[in-house]
Amino acid sequence: PAKQPVTVIGLGPMGRAMAGAYLDAGHAVTVWNRTAARADELVARGAVLAPGAAAAVAANELVVLSLTDYDAVFAVLDAAGAALAGRVVVNLSSDTPERAREAARRLAGLGAVHLTGGVQSPPSGIGKPESSTFYSGPVEAFRRHRETLEVLTGADYRGDDPGLAQLYYQIQMDLFWTSLVGYLHATAVAEANGISAEEFLPYASSTAASMPGFLAFYAPRITAGHHEGDVDRIAMGLASVEHVRHTVEAAGVDASLPALLADAFGRAVAAGRGDSSATSLVGLFRNA
Ligand code: NDP
Repeated sequence: PAKQPVTVIGLGPMGRAMAGAYLDAGHAVTVWNRTAARADELVARGAVLAPGAAAAVAANELVVLSLTDYDAVFAVLDAAGAALAGRVVVNLSSDTPERAREAARRLAGLGAVHLTGGVQSPPSGIGKPESSTFYSGPVEAFRRHRETLEVLTGADYRGDDPGLAQLYYQIQMDLFWTSLVGYLHATAVAEANGISAEEFLPYASSTAASMPGFLAFYAPRITAGHHEGDVDRIAMGLASVEHVRHTVEAAGVDASLPALLADAFGRAVAAGRGDSSATSLVGLFRNA
């Protein structure tokens, strides 16, 4: 069977990689971008540049959006208007779960289907099956288009709720940013003490690589509500983060990050959780 034709709207680094992956895979591709010049290279490779958002949406049933955020998404949807009826809009723009639900409601009102996507890959990972994208929304639409979506990345369908793909994406980003900033902060302390980032690298990597073991140990206990301090205690954690904080201060490095950790551990101790495991911070953060 002929490859499904696809419209790609939004030609930032991600959208350009996506349209390019479809061209490479032999799909007919229609594109549109607010700044038309970003389509030039794709047009030279065989893509058709639509004269506007409505024309781009009218061209194909399957419409991929790769826009900065949902403000941009809503601007494009408003411009496309009635052309959206009968379309499946695969929205690979990042924003909050609630905004994804709002987009799904608006599209349903126009007779269109919204599939939410959270792409967990930089532009260089587009076109590679080992990259992964979270999807959520109506399962029939996902199943019908799965093969075409998998031209971009592997597909991990999380469920019906249009917010779910963004939720999974955002909890991954929560973890990613705190981990990366933790690494950068430790590197600042290392450098302030004459240890280069490269000298620190094997040790930083070894700590990062130990994390899956901790996660695998703690996750079932968190699910079971088992926060006993049999292997680690919050009181010990507080002492440890205070040692970190004092080391950071002595290096003349900004100590607001360890102060934040000390504050969380300190509040847990004050709330009577000193003898519990660090996992009881989950309850502290949830105000539960
Ligand atoms: P960019 O912000 O570089 O580009 C997105 C596109 O949005 C551009 O084509 C831009 O048009 C368009 N746009 C912005 N505002 C409007 C508007 N009001 N009306 C119409 N079009 C608009 O993003 P990326 O390509 O880097 O990423 C796209 C999405 O993918 C983002 O949501 C991002 O968070 C997500 N993502 C990005 C990753 C990355 O590594 N880059 C990784 C994973 C996810 P114009 O060209 O005219 O400015």
